Amino acid sequence: MYEVTVEAGFSAGHYLRNYRGKCENPHGHNYKVRITLQGRELDAAGLLLDFKQLKHVMRPVIERLDHQMINDIAPFTDLNPSAENLAHYFYDETNLQLREMTEGRVNVKDCTIYETDTTTATYYE
Ligand SMILES: [Zn+2]
Repeated sequence: MYEVTVEAGFSAGHYLRNYRGKCENPHGHNYKVRITLQGRELDAAGLLLDFKQLKHVMRPVIERLDHQMINDIAPFTDLNPSAENLAHYFYDETNLQLREMTEGRVNVKDCTIYETDTTTATYYE
């Protein structure tokens, strides 16, 4: 099995509903998202996937959230924008595209959201 991993950052605001504590008030994070892909076969160039292509798939998902209040953007108008839910969102948004691009050769293994340097949440299936 081969894996490739790309990280990217974005800054955004959020607050948690149905939650008592610091995070119930609007505040910002310099988020980092780390996506790892996996597959058994490499392409003709010996790559699982060109890093550029993964970044290209991640970019629109990030741009939708960057410098926004995440709570104002679907599906987070209903869904709480916790690190866990953000990790699941990034997983879904990138996995479908990558599977299509590679005709199922490559899929997302896991997606980790860093709210801070020391606090992360990961989603995988
Ligand atoms: Zn927070």
